[in-house]
Amino acid sequence: MTTATIGAAKITRIEETYGFFFEARKFFAGWRDELVAEHLSWMVPNHYDPATGYLKLSIHSWLIEIGGKKILIDTCIGNHKSRAARPFWNQLDTPYLSRLAAAGARPEEIDMVMCTHLHVDHVGWNTRLDNGRWVPTFPNARYVFSKIDYDYFLAIERDPKKGPAIMGAFGDSVLPVVEAGLAQIVDGAAAIEEHFKIEPAPGHTPGHVLIKLASQNAQAFFSGDIIHHAIQVYHPTWNSFACLDPTTAARSRLKLLEDCAGSGALLAPTHFGAPHLCHIDAKGEGFIPRFR
Ligand SMILES: [Zn+2]
Repeated sequence: MTTATIGAAKITRIEETYGFFFEARKFFAGWRDELVAEHLSWMVPNHYDPATGYLKLSIHSWLIEIGGKKILIDTCIGNHKSRAARPFWNQLDTPYLSRLAAAGARPEEIDMVMCTHLHVDHVGWNTRLDNGRWVPTFPNARYVFSKIDYDYFLAIERDPKKGPAIMGAFGDSVLPVVEAGLAQIVDGAAAIEEHFKIEPAPGHTPGHVLIKLASQNAQAFFSGDIIHHAIQVYHPTWNSFACLDPTTAARSRLKLLEDCAGSGALLAPTHFGAPHLCHIDAKGEGFIPRFR
């Protein structure tokens, strides 16, 4: 189990899936084998399979325990959800909640859920199936969503020509939380309780946010899909196919790396392969990951 200590906080990775979902050269338009060759020593086997050309990506949540509170950041794909457009995410049945329990948190103990953005692999466990209805998985939590993302995907959901939004995830994993009165929809930068700050980091989605945890002079940055894969530390301008506004996404990625290198914060993305966490060091004109 991947854990780290940030001041008084304990953070734990809760795995849903970890494997080979996407071909590297289709995932990153900027991918060139000759640019990656020098990185194979650290990329294989936890980040890339050169035999198939597939990236190895993790889909996980971060559990943060601080001051007696339990907070979950990003909630993966979820179980029993119809995602026909992504066969490897369709009708999953993973022991995610058992892993969460093994890490020390039962669903009713979660105090807050925060989603970095509202894509399908970041909202799934917001809800679970109960007698044919989608109900909040974490009944005692408030769920923090970005207003810009919420409004953006709500408009798609309501447009018969464009909806349903997010492969159906808006309807089965976001709206039931709002209807249950558990959503806190946050507009722009905000302080959340004592230890968290939200900062806009648009591009991958219009309302993507960076979530910063600070405790006792230590920081961790939960960066969602601002950066998907550790190779982007070396190539910050490489966007994934899923980045809706590539120019803005690259700008937010560069800002994240500068902020990490300048502050010494631990970087906790949602999809990096093992060891899943790293620090960022400035080197020459660019950056390098310093894995723990
Ligand atoms: Zn993602």
